[in-house]
Amino acid sequence: MIAVGLDIGSLAAKGILLDGERQFRVIIPTGWSPRKAGEQLLDSLREQAGGAEDIRIVVTGYGRVSYQGADQAVTEISCHARGVVALLPKTDTIVDIGGQDSKVIRLNDAGKVIDFVMNDKCAAGTGRFLEVTANALGIDVDDMAASEDVSQEAAISSMCTVFAESEIIGLLASGVAKGSIIAGLHRSVGKRVAAMVRRLGVGEYIAFTGGVALNRGICRALSEELGRPVQVTDFCQFTGALGAALLAKDMG
Ligand code: ADP
Repeated sequence: MIAVGLDIGSLAAKGILLDGERQFRVIIPTGWSPRKAGEQLLDSLREQAGGAEDIRIVVTGYGRVSYQGADQAVTEISCHARGVVALLPKTDTIVDIGGQDSKVIRLNDAGKVIDFVMNDKCAAGTGRFLEVTANALGIDVDDMAASEDVSQEAAISSMCTVFAESEIIGLLASGVAKGSIIAGLHRSVGKRVAAMVRRLGVGEYIAFTGGVALNRGICRALSEELGRPVQVTDFCQFTGALGAALLAKDMG
């Protein structure tokens, strides 16, 4: 039996196929149709695996309601928990920052979800905040971490994405270096998300997932704000898809 997990996010659609020891993964932009993105992911995974019969599919992510080709749709909370427990079994706190939301999930010793908080109302503390601010700086979001100057961190007072954008334009006009502004932006996201973590209580083993975990500057700022190391795996953006694939595998 082949297990497939699809995580159709607001910006990026991720898929993982598990076939015994073989594992394939694919990521594409979600685009305007989550249903189409799901179909494309499955086609691409099938092609990589050289065809696939007897497939179980679990879908998650914001687009899960639009995709009808799965055996089961499961919440992102459950899928992230399942994925993280497989990758980092000691984890008791998951911080997930995606394109348009951020969440914190607490797990018990058995890896079961005991509580969570989610911010999906405001772009502050999400990938969207970083994309808008990177755009104001004229750089690519993927290059933010490499361009930050932590030795001269600028103070960014606006948490709100719209105000932060104007604040950046003002800082640039007054001669503040881009690297300093970027370090300040990373701090701003770190503070915002750390406050969410504190609402549930800071655990011992913190895993950072979602596409924004690829930004080492945010990992550093978050870890400093929490006073604990923050673990990031190569699978950070694929954690939900991996969890979905493992749940599909459990279906036997
Ligand atoms: P969603 O599931 O909501 O689509 P993801 O967890 O896939 O979100 O994360 C998407 C976010 O990750 C985007 O805001 C994007 O800017 C950010 N991201 C993706 N790759 C990188 C990277 N290499 N460096 C920094 N940020 C990244």
